[in-house]
Amino acid sequence: MPIHEYRCPECGVFELLLRMGTATRESACPGCGTPARRLVSAPGLSRAGTPAARLIERTERTASRPDVVAAPPPDPRKGARTSGNPLHRRLPRP
Ligand SMILES: [Zn+2]
Repeated sequence: MPIHEYRCPECGVFELLLRMGTATRESACPGCGTPARRLVSAPGLSRAGTPAARLIERTERTASRPDVVAAPPPDPRKGARTSGNPLHRRLPRP
């Protein structure tokens, strides 16, 4: 749900969490009850759940809490020497 900002003439700016399309131009201030006008601001739509948001969250999380692993990552040099082709096993060794 997006956050909508209202400005109360007595108390100042306050935020309301309202469903999309249900925000009115005026809303009663929760502090004093005075009608407060809605402010035009950038939409604070949630990006949670999108692949980009998941990647950002995971990257930020690994900075302070890295993933626990049981073994070091495989050596990339070893992987380059082995081949899946059985004929390569017959080749002369250095
Ligand atoms: Zn107020």
